[in-house]
Amino acid sequence: NASPEQVLVCEDVSRWFGGLQAVKSISIGIRQGEIFGLVGPNGSGKTTLVNAITGFYPPQQGTIRFYGEPINRLKPHKVAMQGIARTFQNVALFKGMSVLDNILMGRHIFMRPSALASLFYWWWAQKEEIAHREKVEEIIDLLQLESVRDEPVDVIPLGMQKRVELARALCAEPKFLILDEPMAGMNQEEKEYMVRFILDAQEALGLTVLLIEHHMDVVTAICDRVVVLNNGEKIAEGPAREAINDPAVVAAYIGK
Ligand code: ADP
Repeated sequence: NASPEQVLVCEDVSRWFGGLQAVKSISIGIRQGEIFGLVGPNGSGKTTLVNAITGFYPPQQGTIRFYGEPINRLKPHKVAMQGIARTFQNVALFKGMSVLDNILMGRHIFMRPSALASLFYWWWAQKEEIAHREKVEEIIDLLQLESVRDEPVDVIPLGMQKRVELARALCAEPKFLILDEPMAGMNQEEKEYMVRFILDAQEALGLTVLLIEHHMDVVTAICDRVVVLNNGEKIAEGPAREAINDPAVVAAYIGK
């Protein structure tokens, strides 16, 4: 019953942690090419839903389909191989490695949790590097990271580190990109840059985007539609401005 234009569909998705139901029967359908906002107070279940989609914490109930195929039983690297890439709320780059090597890693690892496995893949990446140059150069160009490409990633400003993470995710050539609070900790100027780069990437690469975002100015500026969660439940859904001004949403934020 997924309409053809919906690329990612969650049906009745639930996830418990012990006795706590973090995500309660959530159904959403994300359309091809849109930027879909996932909004809600802290602890409302946003990251848990993203972890369900990406296979980190598979849902114990419900179905998740990507281009019509169920993905809710796939391991994270298999989900990644279907064309779903993500960035994390906290910067998760390899310190001491250059910007370029961090980005290059996006070609070879699909969010493997083990640093050791990642380093092995990095070594392998060196050998295969030439074959991937073209894509990496395109992304460096798109996100304007040329001037810092050889810098160790930990010495560049946070706003740029977040951009490197975005670059790494894009190097996996995703169809669907999940951004978990990409503006967290940024100043106004960095936020504006990030917004522009997300829009540029979406347009240039034809992406569909799921965006977890706390800054409502950003949500209304770039999201086509949003869903609002509170205590694991969906409390509003629709065009960005309408949904976040819904009385239930305003009450949920004030209640925190
Ligand atoms: P949000 O991303 O909206 O801030 P989360 O999805 O992180 O919310 O959290 C939703 C609820 O699930 C919270 O009560 C949180 O404590 C709980 N939770 C999230 N991840 C885990 C986990 N790995 N183990 C136990 N509880 C978790």
